[in-house]
Amino acid sequence: MACIFCRIASGELPSKKVHEDDLVFVVRDIKPQAPSHLLVIPKAHIASLWELEDEKLAGRLLSVAAQVARTEGLEKGWRLIANSREHAGQEVQHLHLHVFGGRPLGRMLTPG
Ligand code: 5GP
Ligand code: ZN
Repeated sequence: MACIFCRIASGELPSKKVHEDDLVFVVRDIKPQAPSHLLVIPKAHIASLWELEDEKLAGRLLSVAAQVARTEGLEKGWRLIANSREHAGQEVQHLHLHVFGGRPLGRMLTPG
């Protein structure tokens, strides 16, 4: 199985999961770009948000992202990012939501 997040999901690669339920799990990003930088990841292999059709899973991903932000104590603010496909610079081709927080995060996009 080549996909890195599938290998983490199955336990083939050991990881400390901040949250796990029947549909999704959460890990800290290995290269954090903010004091809190977590990844909310579906257990099923879905390439990106473009391919997501399961509304129950979509709801779970969002509610777990908010739950993790609360657990991290990000009451001052946080950001959710889903890089989807080439122009967004998606590096891992398995859907994931980035949760960022713990410092002022600046403007949404850098100038193109
Ligand atoms: P993307 O650019 O696809 O939205 O982001 C992929 C993210 O996954 C990057 O922030 C990268 O640091 C993170 N990442 C890549 N491989 C691993 C890994 O094996 N474990 C964890 N926890 N994060 C990873
Ligand atoms: Zn996968």
